[in-house]
Amino acid sequence: MDEAKNELHEIVDFLKRPEEFGRLGAHIPRGILLVGPPGTGKTLLARAVAGQAGVPFFSTNGSEFVEMFVGVGAARVRDLFEQARKSAPCIIFIDELDALGRARGASPMTGQDEKEQTLNQLLAEMDGFDRSVAIVILAATNRPEILDPALLRAGRFDRQVLVDRPDKKGRVDILRIHLKKLTLAADVTLEDIAALTPGFTGADLANLANEAAVVATRRGADAIGMADFTAAVERIVAGLEKRSRVLIPKERRTVAYHEMGHALVAMALPGSDPVQKISIIPHGIAALGYTMQRPTDDRFLMGRKELENRMTVLLGGRAAETLVDEDVSTGAADDLAKATDIARGMVLRFGMDEKLGPVAWDTDQGQFLNQPGPFWSQRRYSEETSHEIDLAVRQRLEAALKRAIAILEENRPELDAGAANLLAHETLTGAEIPRPRRVLTSEAS
Ligand code: ZN
Repeated sequence: MDEAKNELHEIVDFLKRPEEFGRLGAHIPRGILLVGPPGTGKTLLARAVAGQAGVPFFSTNGSEFVEMFVGVGAARVRDLFEQARKSAPCIIFIDELDALGRARGASPMTGQDEKEQTLNQLLAEMDGFDRSVAIVILAATNRPEILDPALLRAGRFDRQVLVDRPDKKGRVDILRIHLKKLTLAADVTLEDIAALTPGFTGADLANLANEAAVVATRRGADAIGMADFTAAVERIVAGLEKRSRVLIPKERRTVAYHEMGHALVAMALPGSDPVQKISIIPHGIAALGYTMQRPTDDRFLMGRKELENRMTVLLGGRAAETLVDEDVSTGAADDLAKATDIARGMVLRFGMDEKLGPVAWDTDQGQFLNQPGPFWSQRRYSEETSHEIDLAVRQRLEAALKRAIAILEENRPELDAGAANLLAHETLTGAEIPRPRRVLTSEAS
């Protein structure tokens, strides 16, 4: 968890020496959200921060605040912060923040008023104490997308730390800890077990170690062998497949090609953000795998070519799938939605379509101060224009997909080699991804 650890080290330093940090007027983020699937160690991590800093740790669970009785939840939040203020510097940890911080008005259920009061109290408390009080609020969630946007605003949970499922190397390190106390046969290697367990979290691996020991004990063995681990993996995967995503081999291959497709297309296009990392570890939040591109600069304006390139990269995943298999998967749904957004923007808002001209067909009406507008939106163009818009959007997307396919066809050996490499290692950093043969310099069609 090197990335998460680096982020949290700063918090430890601050809690240890608040005066020194405030020397130049800096203040530490008030709230940090640990985002990741269940069992990846978010609670352990929060506890470790408190332990390292040597400060009190107040732990609570979001669901504890949600009471049947009006006013109880809000009172509990008030009590918690009052206690914390007396023991500052300290850490407040709220597990399952989503139980309490669900977007207001998102579900018309009973008890909604109560939840809203509790959430409002939490927001008021977070805004209420002044910056010099050394209280850091850590919260954990596996569903950041349903949180009330007010919670994520500056000065509240404005920093997010991703606590992801471990990659192969991470799993080897975790297994080393869990297998320390077990009696192992000579044929057991950490690398082999790690290879069997893509998508497992730290908690799953702890469970696996115990399960393998149980299997070996039951058959009266003197030591736990590789066969016991294999049996345990099968048993656990059957359970996991029901509640979370563990990929079967064919799916892993598809995801590997899909992600490598994004990466190669990105690298072949001029001016694209460099690819930092690709991964086929099931991500649990939105995607099966991911390709991480980090923008080199903050951007405020984007040109038409850039938008087209961005669409092409988004469709690179689907393009790779069409090349290796006549079937395509549901894995591109998110990419398609994003690419469609861009295409619609170009046509409807930025006047980038020659045929439809420099007209703002769609303006953000009803979007006042970020309040969601009425769900009906008034269309301000004719039936005929509407048809032309649909055609223009589709043409842009089709052109982008074609271009992505052309790029990947040209780099087929790199695509195959890269996907095989990705299957073997699960994550690749920028330098480990094969270079495309040719970086396009001008618009190719
Ligand atoms: Zn994709």
